[in-house]
Amino acid sequence: MALRFYNTLTQEIETFSPLTGNTVRMYTCGPTVYNFVHIGNFRTFTFQDILRRWLRYRGYDLRHVMNVTDVEDKIIANAAKEGKSLEDYTQRYTKAFFEDAAKLRLEQPEHVVKATEHIPVMIEAIQQLSQNGCTYVSEGSTYFRISTFPEYGKLSHNDFSGIRSGARVDIDEYDKADARDFVLWKARKNAEPYWKTPLGDGRPGWHIECSAMAMKYLGETLDIHAGGVDLAFPHHENEIAQSESITHRPFSRFWLHSEHLHIESQKMSKSLGNFYTLRDLLKMGYRPEAIRYLLASVPYRKKLNFTFEGLTAAGKTIKRLREFELRLASTKLRPGRNEQASERASEAIRTFEESLDDNLNTAEALAAVFEYVRAMNNALDHYEFQEENRWEAARVLQVFDGIFDVLKPSPQGGADTADSASGSAYLSDSEIETLLEERAQARKMRDFARSDEIRARLQNAGILVEDTKDGLRWKRR
Ligand code: AMP
Ligand code: ZN
Repeated sequence: MALRFYNTLTQEIETFSPLTGNTVRMYTCGPTVYNFVHIGNFRTFTFQDILRRWLRYRGYDLRHVMNVTDVEDKIIANAAKEGKSLEDYTQRYTKAFFEDAAKLRLEQPEHVVKATEHIPVMIEAIQQLSQNGCTYVSEGSTYFRISTFPEYGKLSHNDFSGIRSGARVDIDEYDKADARDFVLWKARKNAEPYWKTPLGDGRPGWHIECSAMAMKYLGETLDIHAGGVDLAFPHHENEIAQSESITHRPFSRFWLHSEHLHIESQKMSKSLGNFYTLRDLLKMGYRPEAIRYLLASVPYRKKLNFTFEGLTAAGKTIKRLREFELRLASTKLRPGRNEQASERASEAIRTFEESLDDNLNTAEALAAVFEYVRAMNNALDHYEFQEENRWEAARVLQVFDGIFDVLKPSPQGGADTADSASGSAYLSDSEIETLLEERAQARKMRDFARSDEIRARLQNAGILVEDTKDGLRWKRR
């Protein structure tokens, strides 16, 4: 069966092929560089990496654009607090993002584009919208009038027919039930950074950034637009309204949205404070491959609950696969071929391919590989695995690792390079209790290395531990 994706726009699984030629033109919403991104964000970027690799495996060329949002409300507020220019402030986090992405083995999109370097295309887009009668100006800011776009709501499948015309918002992110005229160009405010433009002194809204840059690099109609599920409304809905009001053509044929990474049944997010950055986890001694594996292992449209048990299990799975790889390379085998083992190899690859063709069902693809490895370990135990089966097995691992990319160990000790961690390595109450018990146990056994490690982890999570006459007490800093 052909390659299929679930399209949020049509709410159906559809067969995918690019509109023209062999090149897939894809746009993904990148990071907002106001801080270190967390592993929830990286779940979305890992899904996009798997998507890239699978499209290429299926023989397509890629033209993938990802933006870096380097001007918006939070960035401006944080830069001002630190007394830094926008550029100085965002540079640090942009660098950190790409360092982290490289550790997770995320391929770089063909074009990585910064918002602040594309102000002229945004101005042009807003001017075209004004010419088409879709905008109005209020107190120096330009807004998109959504009543001029009757299809508004078609992506998020909300019925906005009763919207109040003229109600508007200046902030970029807003509530689900709320359809409001959104800001395209924000008038200069006090000491905030601004650009001098024909629209007046000011700065762009977040939504126009993606429409303008996507169309600049990819043309009027994209093959795929992807992002986290929280972006479908309002961000992507607004991108459609803007782009289609300019071109009168479909903006993107496929819309792919990935579900969130959760922690204790809540979305992992900066604002809730329940997050880990990649740096937090590396500092604790977890390996980037295990994190990558964990993030990729659950199909992207399913919620993924982050636990340390899950992360440890991911590490063990990788270890098993590496042991099999080593066993393959180091075992002396009888010449010839075992037919059954050969068949199992072809079947593993076939199931792996069919699973990923099926809207990137990573869980089933992985199951096919495990089943094969289990069977071949068994065959090796019973001397039923022969010389010619070795190369077939290597091929299975190669196909698997071309997408999941976890077999090669990362260099040890590369936890942190340019920057320190974010400081919030969140721990839940029960995790803290378990760690304290483990620490007491380690001290009893005189395993001071382990007890120090646990103390560092608690400290890193902002947990203060006191030795009182009633025993250990802890509180959050
Ligand atoms: P931001 O830097 O906030 O613009 O987010 C970057 C990407 O991460 C977006 O595609 C978001 O939808 C996505 N994202 C944010 N939180 C999570 C989460 N907990 N799980 C998965 N993706 C997320
Ligand atoms: Zn975007």
